[in-house]
Amino acid sequence: MMRPEQIIYDLSVPGRWGYRLPKLDVPEVDPAKALPKSMVRKDKPPLPELSEVDVVRHFTRLSRMNYGVDVGFYPLGSCTMKYNPRINEDLATMSPFTDSHPLMEEADASGLIRLYYELGAALCRIVGLPAITLQPAAGAHGEMVGMLMVRAYHLDKGSERSVVLIPDSSHGTNPASAALAGYDIQEVASNGRGRIDIEALKEAISPQVAAMMVTNPNTLGLFEEEMALVAELLHEVDALVYYDGANANAILGRTTPGAMGCDIVHLNLHKTFSTPHGGGGPGSGPVVVTEKLAPYLPIPVAVKYKNGYHFDYDRPKSIGRVQAWQGNFLVLVKAFAYILIMGEEGLHQVSEDAVLNANYLMSLIKDTFNVKYDYPCMHEFVASSKVLASETGVRTLDVAKRLMDYGFHPPTVYFPLIVEEALMIEPTETEDKATLEAFAEAMKDIYREAQQDAEKVKGAPYTTPVGRLDEVKAAKELDLCYHPPDE
Ligand SMILES: *Cc1c(COP(=O)(O)O)cnc(C)c1O
Repeated sequence: MMRPEQIIYDLSVPGRWGYRLPKLDVPEVDPAKALPKSMVRKDKPPLPELSEVDVVRHFTRLSRMNYGVDVGFYPLGSCTMKYNPRINEDLATMSPFTDSHPLMEEADASGLIRLYYELGAALCRIVGLPAITLQPAAGAHGEMVGMLMVRAYHLDKGSERSVVLIPDSSHGTNPASAALAGYDIQEVASNGRGRIDIEALKEAISPQVAAMMVTNPNTLGLFEEEMALVAELLHEVDALVYYDGANANAILGRTTPGAMGCDIVHLNLHKTFSTPHGGGGPGSGPVVVTEKLAPYLPIPVAVKYKNGYHFDYDRPKSIGRVQAWQGNFLVLVKAFAYILIMGEEGLHQVSEDAVLNANYLMSLIKDTFNVKYDYPCMHEFVASSKVLASETGVRTLDVAKRLMDYGFHPPTVYFPLIVEEALMIEPTETEDKATLEAFAEAMKDIYREAQQDAEKVKGAPYTTPVGRLDEVKAAKELDLCYHPPDE
């Protein structure tokens, strides 16, 4: 019987093998004669020795200790852990894409550049702005690129500005990106409705403000209804408006950041446009901008001339390259396939279902886990265990851990910071009614359990490969090295 902590070396049996090399069909060479002495091994490499079935069982067992969208509901707020259709994966692994090379001659890659150009055009339409770069490798990377463009824009106009305004309901990467681009952050408070406080914003605006970064829908899952006014106020002092569109699931086909007066927008293809994520896999954070910011886009930019599709490097005001080659190209292929297959109607349906699912789930659980800003939500909502914690001592972390025993991935916890004991829940459009109801039932069961036996909930999880971890130690003293038993 394999133990959960066993690694493949523990399973090794000397002399066992699972793969036979074909018979040598070239003359045998003595390595000692063919290679410099210092490069020849004295001993065989310490590889595990196993049969094929040992290996298959080992890795299948490991995969079953994990949890993913393919296993069940994954309502991790602000992450859009939706199901991504397999056909987009299939299309991205077609040989014209996987056999191409970044150093190919442009003339031989015109089909690839065309895909690059047309995906860019489709995303521009979705965002409502005219120019785009597909280079950034992630959302936060796109934010930094956007802020470097803000800097380039102001410097070009001879204006040194030092401040970026950020609402207290923005995603945590926003202040980090602005700081990386060299700006001081000034926070803008939310009002009683969980939206940007316009009076507070007016007070914060000054000629020192380079830009404002707004996450919309904000991290409370609420739509910033005054976005157009926000943009107008900032434009009065020639400050720019950055729209964090990482979670575009709620606005697809409904409205555009362009229509709201925004200047720079990033999208997360690995959230909204069919690339699975988590585990640090490749992502893509395209940045879409207005005409006046287009000169600062990273080089190269895909262009369409009469004779075909090309990359334009001749852009003297560009902030330069921000990523090797053309970004994560196969992620772009998946997004392009997704957009073509869904079509305008399909994308419109995505936002309808994502918002409907979030509102339905909110209505099912808000009697037990209250919602501080109780308005119709967008693609997600933020509930709270505050009341439960004061009655029973069972906190949001305990509820999250207990959910694993019920077979669900926990929601995002303790974010946003403006809601105590926050549970940020994003069901996505790819879940059906029965799943949402089963999750709501689990939440209510945990609520009841907490009233009857708080200690039980505080000890969860009980059914996972490892129990309650010391999360600080696991983050700060992570040890991924193998220590053989005799070490
Ligand atoms: C996920 C997310 C980001 C960051 O995206 P990464 O690809 O993880 O860098 C930024 N803003 C919002 C609102 C997000 O949800």
